[in-house]
Amino acid sequence: MSRIAFIGLGNMGAPMAQNLIKAGHTLTVFDLSAAALAKLAESGATVAASANASVKDAEFVITMLPASKHVESLYLGDDGLLAHIPANALVIDSSTIAAQSAIKVAQAAQAKGLSMIDAPVSGGTGGAIAGTLTFIVGGPKADFERAQPVLSQMGKNIFHAGDAGAGQTAKICNNMLLGILMAGTAEAIAMGVKSGLDPAVLSDIISKSSGRNWATELYNPYPGVMPNAPASKEYAGGFGTDLMLKDLGLAAEAALHTKSAIPLGELARNLYAMHSASGSGPLDFSSIIQPLLKKSG
Ligand code: NAD
Repeated sequence: MSRIAFIGLGNMGAPMAQNLIKAGHTLTVFDLSAAALAKLAESGATVAASANASVKDAEFVITMLPASKHVESLYLGDDGLLAHIPANALVIDSSTIAAQSAIKVAQAAQAKGLSMIDAPVSGGTGGAIAGTLTFIVGGPKADFERAQPVLSQMGKNIFHAGDAGAGQTAKICNNMLLGILMAGTAEAIAMGVKSGLDPAVLSDIISKSSGRNWATELYNPYPGVMPNAPASKEYAGGFGTDLMLKDLGLAAEAALHTKSAIPLGELARNLYAMHSASGSGPLDFSSIIQPLLKKSG
């Protein structure tokens, strides 16, 4: 069992850290929120007074922070986390951030003689609680292998996507496609319903025809078609529109950097931006069907 420093104990980080404790690891944790720290102390973690103090003696350092700016400001700088991490520790950042930020921080770690991988996740809070996340790792193969025993206690599928930043790139490619396919599925179902079709019958037909996809099989955007989908719970829980918007913004950044054309990804980003601006940011992203269901006068 290992000594692990875990920083960032929000919706995802808290259950991930709890699963590591359950697996028998010794955790020292830090978050800016006192409530988040109290919750982990109850679960058996040692609370550190600061992020820098939490990594003293750590064999693994794991961070689960909101966005690129949080990761860069935590790790970099003269008194940043990298200056305090013990030489033999492996650093794992599981936040979803820009690939360019992940590469910048990994290079700074390397310059200090530290090993670091990017390991963003897919699977949401349900996957974090159940310990069934998918980890998508970028970094040297040897570091990927060293991280496996720890990652496998928080997730079920662990992929090595390539060098530093590749984990973030692969995750963002997946989420861009997810945003597009949900918007497309919503569009098709809304048109069918307006044409008089039963949404459940239409969804069943699509899911057994060439338009089938993850949304028609597992996450139908129309209320009542799938009892467990967020659409049937007034779009509560699930994956928020604002989180999808963040990921499509990262896709746009990646496309700019690589001069890639992403016409559908950009269109999807604009759709979710308008949806968020109309007040639907906290709702599950499948609520993108709501404006499409509105009837013209
Ligand atoms: P969250 O906002 O619930 O948690 C982030 C935590 O980081 C907060 O507790 C905050 O206090 C803490 N924090 C911020 N700056 C800090 C600092 N400098 N030092 C210590 N703690 C700090 O976010 P989340 O939902 O847990 O998501 C975390 C990451 O995982 C994001 O990058 C998100 O895009 C990604 N992600 C989220 C989901 C999801 O469904 N929520 C799914 C996959 C990936």
